[in-house]
Amino acid sequence: MINGKIQDAINAQINAEFWSGYLYLSMAMHFEAEGNSGIANWFRIQFKEEQAHAEIFINYLNSRGGRVMLEPIAAVETSWESPLAAFEATLAHEEKVTAMINNLYALAEAEHDYATRGKLDWFVSEQVEEEETARNLIDRLKLIGNDGLALYTLDRELATRVYNVPAPLAQQD
Ligand code: MG
Repeated sequence: MINGKIQDAINAQINAEFWSGYLYLSMAMHFEAEGNSGIANWFRIQFKEEQAHAEIFINYLNSRGGRVMLEPIAAVETSWESPLAAFEATLAHEEKVTAMINNLYALAEAEHDYATRGKLDWFVSEQVEEEETARNLIDRLKLIGNDGLALYTLDRELATRVYNVPAPLAQQD
């Protein structure tokens, strides 16, 4: 059985992961409408990954005899000034998620819940990757500036991104 504090924190994390997914789906819809279908594809895959993150926590809480409680998902923005603005918002959001994961890790240690702490190791590494990817795309978009052809090339490149089931979810199936 999992302790109440940890259960509440994991439920909050599940909500945050769904909110992240909702944010990225909203970005995908924005760029679809703007005609940047490659960027839209990139955010759509980001949306699927966030859903998978929520599912990993859902499966974990169930495996510990906990109770998943789904709360309302808060509204998200619906438009961004530019691809650069969207990726800057992505990085800022991922930094917040990293802080949440770190807080959850600290709570698991304080409560001597080493199973939860172990489960979080994958998320700690995943957050490093999420922030690095957003930072790289921000750097490239800054270099691109107002160069339409360079933006088109990046858009084509992001169109090739495919979804891979995250390892902890693939292992549970
Ligand atoms: Mg996530």
